[in-house]
Amino acid sequence: MIQQLIFAIVLLGFSFLIARRVRLIKKGIELGRQTPLTGDTATRWKNVLLIAFGQKKMFKRIVPAVLHFFIYAGFLIINLEVLEFIIDGLAGTHRFFAPWLGQVYPVLMNVFEFLAVAVLLSCVFFLIRRNILKIPRFWSAEMKAWPRLDANTILTVEIILMTAILTMNAADQVLQLRDTHYTTTGSLFFSSFLMPAFENLETGTLIFIERAAWWFHIVGILGFALYVTYSKHLHIFMAFPNTYVARLEPKGYINNMPVVTQEVKSMLGLAEVSTSPPTEPGRFGAKDVNDLSRASLMAAFACTECGRCTSECPANLTGKKLSPRKIMMDTRDRVEEVIKSQAGLNDGKSLLGDYITKEEINACTSCNACVEACPVMINPLDIIIELRRYVAMEESGSPASWNSMFQNIETNFAPWKFAPSDRFNWAKE
Ligand code: SF4
Ligand code: SF4
Repeated sequence: MIQQLIFAIVLLGFSFLIARRVRLIKKGIELGRQTPLTGDTATRWKNVLLIAFGQKKMFKRIVPAVLHFFIYAGFLIINLEVLEFIIDGLAGTHRFFAPWLGQVYPVLMNVFEFLAVAVLLSCVFFLIRRNILKIPRFWSAEMKAWPRLDANTILTVEIILMTAILTMNAADQVLQLRDTHYTTTGSLFFSSFLMPAFENLETGTLIFIERAAWWFHIVGILGFALYVTYSKHLHIFMAFPNTYVARLEPKGYINNMPVVTQEVKSMLGLAEVSTSPPTEPGRFGAKDVNDLSRASLMAAFACTECGRCTSECPANLTGKKLSPRKIMMDTRDRVEEVIKSQAGLNDGKSLLGDYITKEEINACTSCNACVEACPVMINPLDIIIELRRYVAMEESGSPASWNSMFQNIETNFAPWKFAPSDRFNWAKE
């Protein structure tokens, strides 16, 4: 009874902390502007199924894709076992589903064990790839300190949690062979390799190991679930809504600014004359996170920090300061800062300037390579364009050469310094 009570308190405690954190993240995303979703709903669901659920874009690089798929499938499927842990913890039962599922139970357990081993090996591979092979995209400037620690923590914790499951099952199987109350699970292939390590132990010690592994695994899972909300691992949830709201327009399509379009139309006499009083135009572009769309802020929470965007970015590859991954990480950091501070958006800081510099956004060629590369349909270019609009239209702070180009477009309808009437001079001779 005491164990059940402790378990209920632990479960409630973690549920409360996770719910509080989810509310905070929702509040952060709602800082952004609400923009209408255009396009076909069926295409959006197709994207969710193929790209978020099926990980289609990951399979451009086959080895990491397969290993990542094991971790992902392991996460989804092994967590079904957590349901049994929770029922056992609250009801004081042991392997609640075993009698109900009969012969299916050992099959399921063997599938879970296969996935546990696959997750464990995949995590070891990814740790080696990050820390020993030192793949450059995991060692760039923005991947120091917390992001590197975060990635390594996730992989290490997953290895420990999978080891706990296998240890628990091995001890459990030895106990089943003795005259104990332990429910028969049938033979479990992978954990049976660990059984020789436990066979000579006293029954009391074995029960202690089995129970300790059980508690370690379930508390570890609950702790991990809370940790995920602070980590880049949040993409396992956010990838789904993010692929749903991702833009469906062809890459390269840049949204017009309605206020400017209206202004140009009225200058050309093309706009209908409005009889309503003029409204405040608001800010052109984005200076801070509240000027960005909610989709962009959600994308910041969906970013996996994989760096595929940065590794394809021509500006980054030619030594410029721009990294599209950093644009997403900075956006998330700024949202986190705003939702955690008392002052909120009035803390005297902003995304542009305090996190992202003009040098970074000016280096972007708008090529969309980052958008194409992203496995979860994130669009760092949307944020860059909005920040640049702010710099150009609110601060007139674009580089001098750009300003003269803007001036030429305005007066000559072309980037060059010739009057439109001189355009065919070259043909005169
Ligand atoms: S659109 Fe900009 S940020 Fe993205 S890859 Fe091209 S240059 Fe880099
Ligand atoms: S924006 Fe996409 S490609 Fe870039 S780091 Fe994030 S998840 Fe990876």
